[in-house]
Amino acid sequence: MLRQALLFASRSGGARRIVETAPFTGDVVRRFVAGETVEDATRVTGDLTAEGLLVTLDVLGEGTEDGRRVEANADRYVALLERLGESALGARAEVSVKLSAIGLSLGEQLGERLALENARRICGAARSASTTVTLDMEEHTAVDATLRIVHELRRDFPDVGAVIQAYLRRAEEHCAELAYEGSRVRLCKGAYAAPEAVAFTDKEEIDKSYVRCMKVLMAGKGYPMLATHDPRLIDIGGALAVLNERDADTFEYQMLYGIRSAEQRRLAGKGAQVRVYVAYGRDWYEYFMRRLAERPANLKLFARSIVGRA
Ligand SMILES: Cc1cc2nc3c(=O)[nH]c(=O)nc-3n(C[C@H](O)[C@H](O)[C@H](O)COP(=O)(O)OP(=O)(O)OC[C@H]3O[C@@H](n4cnc5c(N)ncnc54)[C@H](O)[C@@H]3O)c2cc1C
Repeated sequence: MLRQALLFASRSGGARRIVETAPFTGDVVRRFVAGETVEDATRVTGDLTAEGLLVTLDVLGEGTEDGRRVEANADRYVALLERLGESALGARAEVSVKLSAIGLSLGEQLGERLALENARRICGAARSASTTVTLDMEEHTAVDATLRIVHELRRDFPDVGAVIQAYLRRAEEHCAELAYEGSRVRLCKGAYAAPEAVAFTDKEEIDKSYVRCMKVLMAGKGYPMLATHDPRLIDIGGALAVLNERDADTFEYQMLYGIRSAEQRRLAGKGAQVRVYVAYGRDWYEYFMRRLAERPANLKLFARSIVGRA
């Protein structure tokens, strides 16, 4: 119930104004968001990579329906990638892109065409910086268009990463289609509100789906990216790597910046590849609300910081 309410609030203009202007929001936001500028992002990336972690950077700005902001978002990715190339961080840091930030929200046909064009531009900049792009997966209504764009981009950029959300009933089928040689696939549980008709809503069922998907990806020929903080699923991922005789460099774990940081370092210390998803930018509201929805304790933390400081 609380999760649904927070996800609903993530789409509400009124709630947005209240949260964004609350005087002490910043302290809690900073736990999950690396900062507002490209300098903040590269500084955090430098720190994380120096500790042996990999990074994927997300320039916040999803759900953009304004053409000029769409272009500005794509430009921000290109500028970030130029910076990664210049600082030689490209070897250890890639980018994650939400298609709704670069055009997909601008209507069915025009939106998809524009998102593809902008994604192609970003992929070109990533190649020049010796790095890669992963296309995040958003609302269930955007899944088909996102997968179409992944397939189209992979003709020229075979290393483009796809994302599968285990809560979707079609997840296992999609994993089987994507488990081919060279295919980079991030598996996550799914962070949006989705109806029963298309998604599992019970936690146990989502976890079981995650395990089924993991089995398909880890037994396949692609490059699985296991995005979860769930200790049980991380252990099963490790066991599947042993079972499928996978070397440590043939898959990776992924976690979000600010969540289970000690576990990120523990796994990397054991020789696993661990990539941290680092979001930055001014448009943090929706990203932040999803982090609150994932864990009610975060909401208490947020409330306490406001009450404590007021
Ligand atoms: C690298 C990465 C990329 C992602 N990309 C996408 C994407 O493209 N599309 C998409 O829909 N979703 C994405 N997600 C979000 C994902 O779908 C889940 O919503 C999120 O990861 C929480 O699920 P979990 O697997 O960690 O399991 P959960 O069962 O939610 O959590 C397991 C444990 O992890 C810790 N934890 C989890 N979330 C939080 C939190 N917010 N704050 C504090 N502790 C927490 C808690 O200890 C919790 O008990 C991504 C997640 C990661 C890690």
